[in-house]
Amino acid sequence: QSGASDLQTEADRLAQRSICASLARKFPGITIIGEEELPSEEVSEELIEEGHCEEILKKTCPAQYTGIKEEELVIWVDPLDGTKEYTEGLLDHVTVLIGIAYEGKAIAGVINQPYYNYEAGADAVLGRTIWGVLGIGAFGFQLREAPAGKHIVVTTRSHGSALGNDCISALSPHSVIRVGGAGNKIIQLIEGKASAYVFASPGCKKWDTCAPEAILHAVGGKITDIHGNPFQYNKEVKHMNSAGVLASLRNYDYYASRIPSTVKQALVP
Ligand code: AMP
Ligand code: MG
Ligand code: MG
Repeated sequence: QSGASDLQTEADRLAQRSICASLARKFPGITIIGEEELPSEEVSEELIEEGHCEEILKKTCPAQYTGIKEEELVIWVDPLDGTKEYTEGLLDHVTVLIGIAYEGKAIAGVINQPYYNYEAGADAVLGRTIWGVLGIGAFGFQLREAPAGKHIVVTTRSHGSALGNDCISALSPHSVIRVGGAGNKIIQLIEGKASAYVFASPGCKKWDTCAPEAILHAVGGKITDIHGNPFQYNKEVKHMNSAGVLASLRNYDYYASRIPSTVKQALVP
């Protein structure tokens, strides 16, 4: 554990070891940046995943990506997003995020939700994987828009702040949904449960936003910091998204226009 608001569990560590070692073995030239700082040690063979997804390989690679070399890609890994909620038993808030960046831009991502349906009964399939690539689209879920004319804001459940609350109030939402995880909040947007993800605070990092960004952008949505600046994902970039997060599937400009200047002034990128 590295602080009450920044937990690390054995699940975070094991998942990161498995994902990073598996990717590094298959793609030795790729830069992989994971959330957890772990001592380097041999990863046990049973943690190595060697399979691949046929469904993805059936798609045609967009022309602009066919010439990419491994060395030009950066993979941002959040082995367990929503750890706070995980420790409290809110299992469906948890996601595993793997985002792929090229030339500083999020171009592909995977959001795995290991406990999706965990309360749906024994007949339901547990877990799901949502993935997307710019220029191909996003899969593994049913794209839905939020109810027309309703402003439903989704925001943090466990990292709230006065500034964050002021920002949300300024948007006069019809309702506010508080759930854990950046991955889970993007799922709320693409499944039509919320119309904007608003987080006017530092705390969220590049591994939280890379995969969600690629998936949201693949279906025509938009995510930026609270000023409207796009996130950069090159390997040298600062990890912290110091100026918060603003995202929407269809109504981004409306929400961006309603962010108070006092909030913007308080959040330096
Ligand atoms: P949340 O919306 O609170 O679930 O946060 C989304 C992601 O950002 C999670 O990975 C959190 O751990 C991280 N995060 C947000 N705020 C903070 C904070 N104040 N301290 C540490 N991590 C944070
Ligand atoms: Mg996270
Ligand atoms: Mg995490």
